[in-house]
Amino acid sequence: MTVNGERIDWLKKMATGQNIGYWIAPGNEYTTSIPNAVQKIMYPSGMSNPMVLWKTTVNSNSNMDFYQYYSSSSTEPVAKTTSHRKNASGNYYAMLPSDKDTYNWVYAEVRLNDYHMDGLTNTKREAVIVHEMLHGYGLRDLYNNANQASIMFGSVSGTATRLTSDANSILNAKY
Ligand SMILES: [Zn+2]
Repeated sequence: MTVNGERIDWLKKMATGQNIGYWIAPGNEYTTSIPNAVQKIMYPSGMSNPMVLWKTTVNSNSNMDFYQYYSSSSTEPVAKTTSHRKNASGNYYAMLPSDKDTYNWVYAEVRLNDYHMDGLTNTKREAVIVHEMLHGYGLRDLYNNANQASIMFGSVSGTATRLTSDANSILNAKY
């Protein structure tokens, strides 16, 4: 699907993504922002979707893992998310973005960069986490300035604070 002329989603998705566990790694300090972001996905204001997420303390029961790291490098973003599937040998690997037009994946890993996250408001933190989770479900970054109000806008100048209708439509279409 396209929004103002640019693709908002990959052709494939998290294989069993409709109802999944999520797991917060030891040492990840965003233990309030992450559940708040989960609520923003499951119960979007004025909209609905079939997404179900439940917190688990067992990593192997999770399909959405949240890690924290710290990097002040100018090339490091606020957060980043990878999608993982098994290769022919049965080992999980982080897919290239373009692979996500060809193969479904099993789980996603979200990495929050504390260097950037620490200075954000709670509202912005939750928006970042919602955005990253949506990557895990198969949505892409938007860069057209016409899409600045979308939760999928790919820069910190994005204005969305919650799940937006363009992204919610994709969740309904995929799941
Ligand atoms: Zn992004």
